[in-house]
Amino acid sequence: PRRRIDLGRADIGDLLGGIGDSPDAAAAQVRAFEHQASAMLGGLWVRATASGRDALDLILDGLGIGVGDELVVPAYTLGELIVRLQGRGLRPVAADVDVDTFAVTPQSVARAITARTRAVVALHVFGAPCDIRGIAAVAAHHGLPLIEDCAHAFGACIDGRPAGSFGAAALFSLEVAKPVAAFGGGLLATASSELQAAAAAHLDRRRYSPWPAARKMLMKCLEEFAVRSPAYGLAARMMFREQKGGGFEQFYRGLHDRVRPADVAFSGFQARRGLRRLAGLAQRNRHLNLLWGELAAGLPPEFAAQARARCGEPAAYNFVARYSGDLPRLRRRAQARGLDRGLPGEVLDDVAPMLGQTDCPGAAQVFAEAVAIPLHLGIDAARLRRMGEILAAVSRP
Ligand SMILES: *Cc1c(COP(=O)(O)O)cnc(C)c1O
Repeated sequence: PRRRIDLGRADIGDLLGGIGDSPDAAAAQVRAFEHQASAMLGGLWVRATASGRDALDLILDGLGIGVGDELVVPAYTLGELIVRLQGRGLRPVAADVDVDTFAVTPQSVARAITARTRAVVALHVFGAPCDIRGIAAVAAHHGLPLIEDCAHAFGACIDGRPAGSFGAAALFSLEVAKPVAAFGGGLLATASSELQAAAAAHLDRRRYSPWPAARKMLMKCLEEFAVRSPAYGLAARMMFREQKGGGFEQFYRGLHDRVRPADVAFSGFQARRGLRRLAGLAQRNRHLNLLWGELAAGLPPEFAAQARARCGEPAAYNFVARYSGDLPRLRRRAQARGLDRGLPGEVLDDVAPMLGQTDCPGAAQVFAEAVAIPLHLGIDAARLRRMGEILAAVSRP
């Protein structure tokens, strides 16, 4: 299966304990989680938010970025972020990405900056550190704040320094498949005292309820149950057809958006879960990075796995490779053999066309050739071997 969610007995305990908590006890749990995240991010000020995109909103508000302002964003990122930025009246301008790392570069960021630019967003895509020092230097040269999108990158570091500590502020996502999964939520990390004050003023006004996260966990239990059932293979073949647009994926993403209320504070239940995930994070990243390396080493020559270690040590997120052959055919044949392959646009989007830009050939190529190969905690050595065999068989002309 394309995803498996790390769900266990401890989650039920966390949930039951968390629902019974008083708002004060829950707040203490949340402070403990934020404190631990801060310690792992080199002492940055950290607050838990409703989602990664909520953290981005708070950062933009705190920086005073508003209607009509331009923002440099990666051309290969989550399409929903662009829609959200445009909804705030901002003007995102895409910076192209490198076809090997899938990341923006200091050069592509510099090219996208204009007289109206107010900030730069850089993404450590799929957990692999981008050239954040080079990008920070470009932003500083133009007097622009740098925002690090660390949605995929908790635990990644550059010369021993954690991703998220190089710009004015960083956002992390705690969505179910991200490295620190707490059934939704996000983190805002910053060293700037103005940003801290602005974000705290918003966050401290939110109401407390454990139910949105509990609902999400229930949804995830159902999903996990479906994914582990023997009928999943057949169902997946029907749901994940090659039609343009990927109807099911859009439906799935939409479902997520409906359980993401922004006026609700991060819950004690999520904080307990988050603390547990932070404690296991280094081991998780190490384990999945090892599997990542084995999978990459065994790929047939038509595949080029993302170059992940050019600028630092990656955190583990999606395994994505470029495939130079007939991609629809590859997906079809892999699915027929039981490998639940990615859909076009399943992982991230080429956002340049959404912005009317035609100057991002790197993102267009990555988007057109990207194939996500399942890599999660449900993959053991036998499955890894089997995936390698399937990929070798189906990529032969
Ligand atoms: C997941 C993600 C986010 C935001 O996370 P949410 O918690 O889903 O709002 C931001 N940027 C990228 C690239 C992501 O993949």
